[in-house]
Order: sequence, then structure tokens, then C-alpha cells
Amino acid sequence: MHIDVLSLFPEYFRGPLDESILKRAQDAHLIEIERINIRDYTLERHKKADDRPYGGGPGMVMMAEPVIKAVRAKKEGRLNTKVIYLSPQGVTLNAKMCRELAKEEHLILLCGHYEGIDERAIDSVVDLEISIGDFVLTNGCLAACVLIDAVARFIPGVIGDERAADEDSFEGGLLDFPHYTRPEVLSLEFEERKVPEVLLSGNHAEINAWRKKKALEKTKKCRADLYEAYIKS
Ligand code: SAM
Repeated sequence: MHIDVLSLFPEYFRGPLDESILKRAQDAHLIEIERINIRDYTLERHKKADDRPYGGGPGMVMMAEPVIKAVRAKKEGRLNTKVIYLSPQGVTLNAKMCRELAKEEHLILLCGHYEGIDERAIDSVVDLEISIGDFVLTNGCLAACVLIDAVARFIPGVIGDERAADEDSFEGGLLDFPHYTRPEVLSLEFEERKVPEVLLSGNHAEINAWRKKKALEKTKKCRADLYEAYIKS
């Protein structure tokens, strides 16, 4: 998959996209991520890409022309592109959407800044608006990182053991079961915590039954909405 991330601050992505699993995925050419500065597409002498809002009010608005030009330039020569504007006004991202997006050949992720983007650019070049939750961030770069990370997990080969993504929270309609690792007995100053016996038993049928029970308990406790839907289905 090729992803073009369009923003006013491409340096923002240093770190989140250059470490750990996403770095390995890029090194292995499973995913290519290009960071594009929208300012490179402005005709303004001082590379200005934002201006005051018509109608008045606080903040600045990203100008339509550089955004449209940047998107069209990145689309050129490609047949299958999905242009996504990260926006609090979009549909809320979930695991099912990430799985679907992982099948795309080419994504263009448009990050807004300030008060957002001139609506004419959204009307002109955006296919889909996606939000990462009902809150407002200062800009879309963090939201783009979240989307890239969550989508990349579903690209074959990106996470070592592909079963991991299939068994994670939301996949079967439930949250994940609890995980434990060494030591068997955790001794802290005033407490001792043991790994549940069943996980040391080697009995896989019993381990699976225990994990299912724990996943149900956790989902009921933390996400009553998911639990109800699971029980109904
Ligand atoms: N005026 C906009 C509104 O109230 O809908 C908010 C603009 S916000 C300060 C600046 C940019 O951050 C947006 O254009 C968008 O790209 C990004 N952003 C903010 N919250 C987001 C969210 N929940 N999900 C995705 N992107 C978000």
C-alpha cells in the first residue's frame, strides 16, 4: 500500500512513523509512506497556505487551491486512490473500517490545521471524512498517525504473527482476554500476584474456555454496548 500524508508540518511525523512496527513495514516495502508539505503547492510568494475566514470569527482556514493541487498531483497516474480528510466531523474510525482500508492500493490522508480546510477543497477532492473520536485535536497529523497505525496492522506481513490481529479486541465482537508473562509470581512490597493457574496447565481447551470467559467479563464491564450486541447475535 502507498500512503501520501498531506499536511502543513511533515516533520510532525518523525517518530511515530519511523519507529518499531511501522518502520519495519516500510523497510520491508509492505507499506510506503510519503509526507507531503501542502505549502509546496501554493503559488503565494511566502508559501502562505491559510487565510482569515470569510464571515469573520477566530482562527485561520487552510486555502482550497494548494490542497486541491496537492491532492491532484499525488493522484496523477494512479487508478485506485481513496482521499481521506481526517476531521472531527467524519465517520468514527473503527476496526472494521481499518480492515477494509487495509485492502486499498493508495490512500491520500489530508490533515487539517487551524479551523480546518476551505469547504470547496473538501467538496472537490475528498472521498471520505474520518474522525478518530468525538473530541477536537489541534491538527489532523496525530489522527493520520492513528489511522496509518491501525490500518497497517491488517496488511499481511506487518505484524509478525497474523493471528494476533484476528484475536485482538473487537475482532470477534468482544474485547481481548487478559495477558500475562513472566514471572509466575509477582512479589511487590505488600502484595503478591500470581498468574492464573489455568494458563500454566498446558490444557489448551481449558485455556481457551478461560480466555473466552474473561473476554466476556471484560466486555460486559467496560463496553456494555458491545456485550449486548454480542449476546444478541
Ligand atoms: N473547526 C473544526 C471543527 O470544529 O470541526 C475543528 C478544526 S481542528 C482544530 C483542526 C484539524 O484537526 C481538523 O481540520 C482535522 O484535520 C483535525 N482533527 C481535529 N479533531 C479531529 C478528530 N477528532 N479526528 C480527526 N481529525 C481531527
